[in-house]
Amino acid sequence: MANPVSSATKVPKAPKQVPGESLNYPKMRFRCADVGYRKCPWQLEGYSAEAMLATIKKHAAEVHHLELKEQSIRNVRNAIHDAA
Ligand SMILES: [Zn+2]
Repeated sequence: MANPVSSATKVPKAPKQVPGESLNYPKMRFRCADVGYRKCPWQLEGYSAEAMLATIKKHAAEVHHLELKEQSIRNVRNAIHDAA
């Protein structure tokens, strides 16, 4: 399990916002810390848990070297809250 350390620190990019779309939906927010990664400052905002899940899966794989399985996905969904 070689895991080469790159000299450049990867900083997750903020998700692209789509202005003018889905204005009727409440904005949702997910924080990685809410599913147990207390030291991870990563968070994500979006309009649909479904769409956010894809990005969250990517983050989990790239940053935490995790593949989200059914149970984890359930936890992630529970951790996605309306952003006031
Ligand atoms: Zn994280």
